[in-house]
Amino acid sequence: LMPVPSDIEISRAQIPKPVDQLAQEVGLLPEELEAYGRSKAKVRLSLLERLHTQPDGKYILVAGITPTPLGEGKSTVTIGLVQALSAHLKLNSFACLRQPSQGPTFGVKGGAAGGGYAQVIPMEEFNLHLTGDIHAITAANNLVAAAIDARMLHEATQSDKALFNRLVPSVNGVRRFSPIQISRLHRLGINKTDPASLTQEEVSTFVRLDLDPSKITWQRVVDTNDRFLRKITVGQASTEKGQIRETGFDIAVASEIMAILALADSLEDMKNRLARMVVGTSRSGQPVTTEDLGVSGALAVLMKDAIKPTLMQTLEGTPVFVHAGPFANIAHGNSSVLADKLALKLVGRDGFVVTEAGFGADIGMEKFFNIKCRASGLRPNVVVLVATVRALKMHGGGPNVSAGAPLPKEYIDENLSLVSGGCHSNLRKQIQIAHLFGVPVVVALNVFKTDTEAEIDLVCQIAKECGASDAVPCHHWAQGGRGSLKLAQAVNEAASRASNFQFLYNIEMPIAEKIRTIAQKVYGADDIELSPAAKAKINYYNQQGYSSLPICMAKTHLSLSHMPDKKGAPTGFVLPIRDVRASIGAGFIYPLVGTMSTMPGLPTRPCFYDIDLDPATEEITGLF
Ligand code: ADP
Repeated sequence: LMPVPSDIEISRAQIPKPVDQLAQEVGLLPEELEAYGRSKAKVRLSLLERLHTQPDGKYILVAGITPTPLGEGKSTVTIGLVQALSAHLKLNSFACLRQPSQGPTFGVKGGAAGGGYAQVIPMEEFNLHLTGDIHAITAANNLVAAAIDARMLHEATQSDKALFNRLVPSVNGVRRFSPIQISRLHRLGINKTDPASLTQEEVSTFVRLDLDPSKITWQRVVDTNDRFLRKITVGQASTEKGQIRETGFDIAVASEIMAILALADSLEDMKNRLARMVVGTSRSGQPVTTEDLGVSGALAVLMKDAIKPTLMQTLEGTPVFVHAGPFANIAHGNSSVLADKLALKLVGRDGFVVTEAGFGADIGMEKFFNIKCRASGLRPNVVVLVATVRALKMHGGGPNVSAGAPLPKEYIDENLSLVSGGCHSNLRKQIQIAHLFGVPVVVALNVFKTDTEAEIDLVCQIAKECGASDAVPCHHWAQGGRGSLKLAQAVNEAASRASNFQFLYNIEMPIAEKIRTIAQKVYGADDIELSPAAKAKINYYNQQGYSSLPICMAKTHLSLSHMPDKKGAPTGFVLPIRDVRASIGAGFIYPLVGTMSTMPGLPTRPCFYDIDLDPATEEITGLF
């Protein structure tokens, strides 16, 4: 329809096919499906065993130029592309998307189901609770937080003997260690299994985690932009006997448990990662883990269903996996390894899996390659780099605009010199970054109705001059899969050529060298500058044996540099590293470049003002 109706009107106008029919079409057996209502189902991981001899399909990553408030449309391109591949070119294909957080859905950005005629449906189910994975993460994360504070209280108020008697209770006159406790004893170098044989000193070492309250890194989480929880004080009731400390909340998708869900490649791997998470440091400087707290088995129990990807469909009835959605700044911002793996088996050798990386290619794609591909062992065939004329104009020197504000005339009228400026700076640099990894790039120009023919042609021409295998305009937002046919053909063609994938750095390089490599080669910095705190942390991580982990840069997504207002492709800057932190369970070190908010706030007029429910029809309005 013209004009294109609202996202929710389009979504509601299409009745999704029953999920068991969709499952059958993609080759799932009924016993591999756990339906949640009529239009979505979790898929069991046993599928991987059944199809382990099946060759994988082609693996396509959708990334973007540096985001601007004018929007790029990576999710809509991802969905438009699979609609074109499956419904129009009749090639098996799957989209793998992240589950959106409730924070942006009710805050500023809105949902993440795509838009126009390139959407996942039903979009309200996609954007709201889905199959409860984020709730499971919240429950697991906060169980750890409760375990930390309760343990500190008990240690502060009980003798070694009393603690030991409670931690290793006598059942019918016999005391036995649980498997989690035996594992802790091993790590402490106490190779004993009989509780009665521990010396007094060993009992004390075993029962006291001796957490340093000022070195606890674990925070509570909630999936709402609740800025007043950024800093809180806990333990103020008299029952907590003065165990008062300052802590805070992060948004649920910033939990390390979310990053683990996205990187685990089996239930066992997830369980091991959940046990390795470091929650803080003891007074003697030793890391304290969730396994030390005795909570790791319970975490695996809370997460056992969340590990299964959720099957949904696009507006054109093609399959989509929705799974995980780690924050793209302090975590790696990609959907799950497991969803990609299952989808690659389901589509088979000639099929396509299109997965999306958050933010610009300098962040989402770099982390996809260096973190996600390292964890999964999967190798991508093609990068689709999404750009829009209006965002390129901003990178080419166009005026700054805040989200939702009226567009200045530069973004409405034809302006070839701004477009050219953006192509020769940001687009060129992002293409070069993909080439550092040896992967061919197809530029997808997501066309808005204000774009002129001359502007569209110019972007495609310069993109090819900058080394893109191809560059094509995409009209999926207004036309659905049919509008992305050229993109599907270009991707099919590029994927038939050899890709020479390589990592950017050797994992055994010193931590500072890995950070420097990313800063110089990807961001275009002259060098890095480590603060004294960052240097001290790097030394500590080296001592603890954490130096062989990949790097997950926590940097603004609004610029290739650390300065959000520097558009295009800045040069001549030194990247300041304020601090360095570690997510040991997820398996990465994360350097902080500037301040990163892990709990967004609500604006004066959040999206929830427009969201409403008609009780008579149960119809939701205002989601987008
Ligand atoms: P990203 O994944 O880059 O954050 P999305 O694909 O989620 O971006 O798109 C963001 C918003 O922009 C959505 O509401 C979508 O409907 C809208 N949008 C995307 N492409 C177009 C287009 N070509 N014309 C108009 N609106 C669009």
